[in-house]
Amino acid sequence: MIRSLKSAVSLRLCGLLLAFSSLLSFFDLPAFAQEYRRVDTDQKRIALTFDDGPHPILTPKILAILKQYNIHATFFMIGKNVHDYPETARMVAMKGHEIGNHTNSHIRLYGLGKERAEQELDACALQIRDVCGQMQNLFRPPEGATDESVLSAAEEKGYHVILWSIDTRDWESKNASAIINRVLTSLKPGDIILMHDFIGHNSKTPEALERLIPKLLARGYQIGSVGELLGIDS
Ligand SMILES: [Zn+2]
Repeated sequence: MIRSLKSAVSLRLCGLLLAFSSLLSFFDLPAFAQEYRRVDTDQKRIALTFDDGPHPILTPKILAILKQYNIHATFFMIGKNVHDYPETARMVAMKGHEIGNHTNSHIRLYGLGKERAEQELDACALQIRDVCGQMQNLFRPPEGATDESVLSAAEEKGYHVILWSIDTRDWESKNASAIINRVLTSLKPGDIILMHDFIGHNSKTPEALERLIPKLLARGYQIGSVGELLGIDS
């Protein structure tokens, strides 16, 4: 009898402790930035994104193609490349494109902790704002690799985390047709397309873009920046 009373009391205590700790964690919950891969929509709207730039040759080529069609895209820049090619970075901003944060050194942030994520975000933002005078609150983590520390750092600094739904794999593509086909075979309304304006070898991205845009338009798609697609005030 005493034993069962004791266990009933300890059960009660456990319950109370559990309730108390869950109450505490409710108030202490870390907030995580939302990750966007695409948008659910019936409207034929998609976003074009270019990572890793600016690049002194490739970026201007891409800008010229976008201008032909009066398209504004999103450029996720690496802080170090902005430092190395400030004129090109400024050109992107002056043409009215969206500029997002792609870290300062393009390091994979997964598992490195919140402090490192904050450092990378801040150093890149400082560089972009210094050179371009502006930066939208969009963040694309290198390789799309996030964890709770990265998402918590992004949230605290007010970033939307932008991933993608179509990876063109343009960085490894030997011909433009492969890049184009990767887009056209899985294209649907609301897609965010990943391309690169900084590739170490002979990039096929400009050629692919030049051929791809008319095909997308012919299918009735409106092409724009991430901010336009998501309807977020970036
Ligand atoms: Zn990248």
